[in-house]
Amino acid sequence: MNKRNAYILMMLLIPTVVFADKVKVRVFSTANIAYTKISFENSTYSLVGDNVDTIAANLKRGDFVELTPFAKEVVVSVNGQKKGNFESVSFVTNQDDAYFYISPKGYKQRSYEDDLHITALNSKYLQLINHVEFEKYVAGVAQSEIYGKHADIFRVQAIISRTWAMRNMEKHKAEGYNFCDNVHCQAYYNRCIREDIKMAAKASINEVLVDANGNLIETPFHSNSGGQTANSEDVWKSEIEYLRSVKDTFSYGMKQSEWTKEFSTDKWLNYFAKNHKLNINDENVRKELLNFTQDERKAKIVGVPLTTIRKDWNLKSTFFSVVYYGDKVVLEGKGYGHGVGLSQEGAIRMVELGIPYKEILVHYYTGAKVVRLGAEEEMEEPVLLASTTAADNNVADDFTNDVMTMIAMVNDPAGVAVEDEKKKETKKVETENTDKSKRSSDLASRMLNTKKQLEKESSANNNVDNENGWVYEW
Ligand SMILES: [Zn+2]
Repeated sequence: MNKRNAYILMMLLIPTVVFADKVKVRVFSTANIAYTKISFENSTYSLVGDNVDTIAANLKRGDFVELTPFAKEVVVSVNGQKKGNFESVSFVTNQDDAYFYISPKGYKQRSYEDDLHITALNSKYLQLINHVEFEKYVAGVAQSEIYGKHADIFRVQAIISRTWAMRNMEKHKAEGYNFCDNVHCQAYYNRCIREDIKMAAKASINEVLVDANGNLIETPFHSNSGGQTANSEDVWKSEIEYLRSVKDTFSYGMKQSEWTKEFSTDKWLNYFAKNHKLNINDENVRKELLNFTQDERKAKIVGVPLTTIRKDWNLKSTFFSVVYYGDKVVLEGKGYGHGVGLSQEGAIRMVELGIPYKEILVHYYTGAKVVRLGAEEEMEEPVLLASTTAADNNVADDFTNDVMTMIAMVNDPAGVAVEDEKKKETKKVETENTDKSKRSSDLASRMLNTKKQLEKESSANNNVDNENGWVYEW
């Protein structure tokens, strides 16, 4: 097997492990839930306490369960009858189309699919975690993160969100779940209820963005680039090859294309004197501060990072010019958001113009490409990919375990392969055994290198978080 094929095989195996599982998403993660009602639709649920006791079976439309915290336990009532206190309660179903409503006191009702696990965060509030099939989560995120009439915009968003999620499975590992439901991770404010979005997400199933080396990419996006996207290093610390500044006229003429903000000239100048120790009496400095222009995106104004200015002045973007009117200055700005990666409104416009979704993604993520994981043409040995051996619902599974599983799968394809395929391939496998063991060790070392790289990038991204940067925003 040549190097490229070995790598593709590895790439294909990683998500096979991942998306066979459900993911755990903390919902209402920023809410203080002191009471909630759960009701059911289109399905039947069992209510289980402390992972063992069936509190109620066959819960269906018309039934309701009320939950409140008490001394770090969850107090449960079913249809108005008290059932007791539990350390945890779970609503579980084996129906694929099952969903339920969460109606917390003080918050708008939402619905989610599959299972729900509830614990008391403390004596006052509950923690709600939705265990949901990965692709249902992706569709819910696509619905929450972007608007539009055309199916392809949701396909674009689904690919971005799937890629992000696969790269960031361990974002909340320490707290015992994969993702939260707000922009810290990705917005997931409801199950996907729109059929067109469901279909768009389904059409994109297994499609992800990879870089030139075949690694899943980070996929930041923002509301509107203002006509030019930003280089990653001008906004965050790391220079990332596929996050390059590109001209983006598609972002013109959209909702968030332009903004203005005005300040008194004194306030504007004094800020630089006080916060950045600039000599505002120096003619050159003064001139630059009062006549700063950006026909193309810049990173700094008189040496001060524009990202700092944006944060301190609560600006929609760093892409602005200063117009001086004597006692006041007007910032004339373009776009909304950090400007790195995909411009959502630019993408919406591109879809309207009939540009194919792959071209849209490649326009914003330079040199990246869309691949469909598990696609026949990319597969060296499809027989391996039928495996669901590693399906283990434990969120705490770390990358190392996945890697070890994959190595085992590569070492012992017969153990995990589809039986028919195995019979057909037996003879071939025997003759290739020597080749395989060499390939396995090659794969193992590549996988471990990937792990190291992900860890390195993850620590780089932590810095980004500290800079209020790596946030998906409108
Ligand atoms: Zn989060």
